[in-house]
Amino acid sequence: SRSRFKGQKVLITGASQGIGEATALYFAQEGARVALNGRKEDKLLAVRESLPKVPEGDHVIAAGDISKEDDVAALMDKSIQEMGGLDVLVCNAGYQIPSPSEDISLADFEGVMAVNVTGVMLACRAALRYWFKEGIQGRIVVNSSVHQLIPKPHYLGYSASKGAVGNIVRTLALEYASRGIRVNAVAPGAIVTPINDSWVKDPKQYEAVSSHIPMKRPGQSEEIAATVGFLAASESSYITGQTLYVDGGLTLYGDFEKNWS
Ligand code: NAD
Repeated sequence: SRSRFKGQKVLITGASQGIGEATALYFAQEGARVALNGRKEDKLLAVRESLPKVPEGDHVIAAGDISKEDDVAALMDKSIQEMGGLDVLVCNAGYQIPSPSEDISLADFEGVMAVNVTGVMLACRAALRYWFKEGIQGRIVVNSSVHQLIPKPHYLGYSASKGAVGNIVRTLALEYASRGIRVNAVAPGAIVTPINDSWVKDPKQYEAVSSHIPMKRPGQSEEIAATVGFLAASESSYITGQTLYVDGGLTLYGDFEKNWS
């Protein structure tokens, strides 16, 4: 069906490109009204133009820096007011900065933690306050990474942040389970998005990345968006506190396939 989220209101952070943009498209195609967060309003306006319209009204522009407490309060208020509520929060915004760990700058480390961890906490807190007050059985889906599990050398902040995301999801899931609020994570492997242009656009590197994945190809943003949708939909009504790896088998210790005999 293409109306699985009809009448529902969904806020997506980091929706200006990549997986967040694909997730916004997924929910709008399924009939939801969406609020688009990102730092730059012009990019969000362009994304909104590309989305199917819904009869309830325009999709909402909720610009702001997800790591800033005041921004999150304002963009959450705007989203709830203009959509007339909130049913699903998708915490997708995140980034990484490479550096040998002995040289990592405090600013880079704290910057990644501020968006990938503090940003998730701030958005979840705001949604939970609203759901708590209104008695709404909301759902949260956080975009983690295979690096919640697989170490990522040269990306210490990113690895730390995604490990933290796994425990944020488990802790909030337990704390709010009795209220019918569900909290889960999707953990993508290597996905074709703008942040991966360096290897996506270079055939040699694309081949190298693909050869390390048991399914021999990277994933598409739409494959992550569909999983976010599943975790927010009634089909997953008894699932909470889980991280679902969507990675073509990347977390299956692929070397064992070759070393069997
Ligand atoms: P992307 O860089 O294409 O998109 C990230 C989005 O987050 C952008 O819209 C950006 O504007 C937004 N953003 C960044 N900082 C922000 C802030 N402070 N406030 C608000 N918005 C902010 O990245 P992507 O590949 O689509 O990744 C999205 C999520 O998926 C991230 O959490 C990332 O860690 C995760 N992920 C991606 C991959 C992959 O292979 N692409 C793999 C695993 C996990």
